[in-house]
Amino acid sequence: RAKDNGRNRFVMFDDAMHETAMGVLDLEQALRDALVRDEFEPWFQPIVRLDDAGVVGYEALLRWRHPERGVLSPAAFLKVAEDSGLIGPIDWRMFRLALESGRALMGEERFLTLNVSPRLFSQNDFDQRLLELVDEIGFDPRALRLEVTEGTLLGDPENVVAMLERLRERGVEAALDDFGTGYSSLGHVHRYPLKMIKIDQSFVAPFASGIAPRSSAVIEAILALGHALGTEIVAEGVENDAQWNVLRLMGCPYGQGYHFARPAPLGHWLGQ
Ligand code: C2E
Ligand code: MG
Ligand code: MG
Ligand code: MG
Repeated sequence: RAKDNGRNRFVMFDDAMHETAMGVLDLEQALRDALVRDEFEPWFQPIVRLDDAGVVGYEALLRWRHPERGVLSPAAFLKVAEDSGLIGPIDWRMFRLALESGRALMGEERFLTLNVSPRLFSQNDFDQRLLELVDEIGFDPRALRLEVTEGTLLGDPENVVAMLERLRERGVEAALDDFGTGYSSLGHVHRYPLKMIKIDQSFVAPFASGIAPRSSAVIEAILALGHALGTEIVAEGVENDAQWNVLRLMGCPYGQGYHFARPAPLGHWLGQ
């Protein structure tokens, strides 16, 4: 096996873990232990209307409350979780917790989004399993949106379209995450039933100090695409006033980012 011959023996971690880089095998074991000890939890970040910053939904973001290293973001462990297959049980645990918590955040037509690993999405019974969970928890499927990436869509287009259509029949909508970072974005996006497209933060970053003509052209093209397809557009990574203003003036309807709110545990949003 690849992991036995020294390849990928070490992985890089985010700030929280720097200088303590664990080997892949150690991290794999630590992830297994974390599942048993129930150390994964959802944090939530609002998605807002850009005209008045009103909250329209929340994205659930996975966190690992590590007993010694504090709260870790997916950057610290997602790759190993994906490569080892542990992302399956981690995502299912995360979805259960996020849906249970998310109930308290809904109402006023708000939605909750879950990030789905490509590995889960390629399983034929994914939709059935998800809908069973949604029913068991009593979460309104019409308030649920699944964030998938271009890689997930392109993996097996026919099955993905069928899966998305089955989910949509029950009210579960799809959002395309990190739009613009994949390969054939514009060529394929019209084939999928998407409620929402999230413009990757790398396209928003250039507006940090105001108007940036070439980047504006890209955003305008994506907005036109969204308009033509009837798909809602969300700008990710809005960190300051300049970015907010430029996007709002261009007519981008929705946004998400530190400028509005950082991801936080449920208690924060419930005012605890
Ligand atoms: P993503 O789905 O594109 O999520 C957006 C990421 O950008 C989040 O990082 C969020 O905390 C961060 N972010 C939000 N606003 C800003 C901003 O204004 N500036 C900057 N620089 N960053 C911002 P996070 O929470 O570390 O998650 C990273 C990635 O991990 C996510 O990217 C997603 O691909 C993946 N992920 C998160 N939760 C899950 C999960 O439950 N399951 C799976 N399979 N993947 C997940
Ligand atoms: Mg996402
Ligand atoms: Mg994203
Ligand atoms: Mg991203």
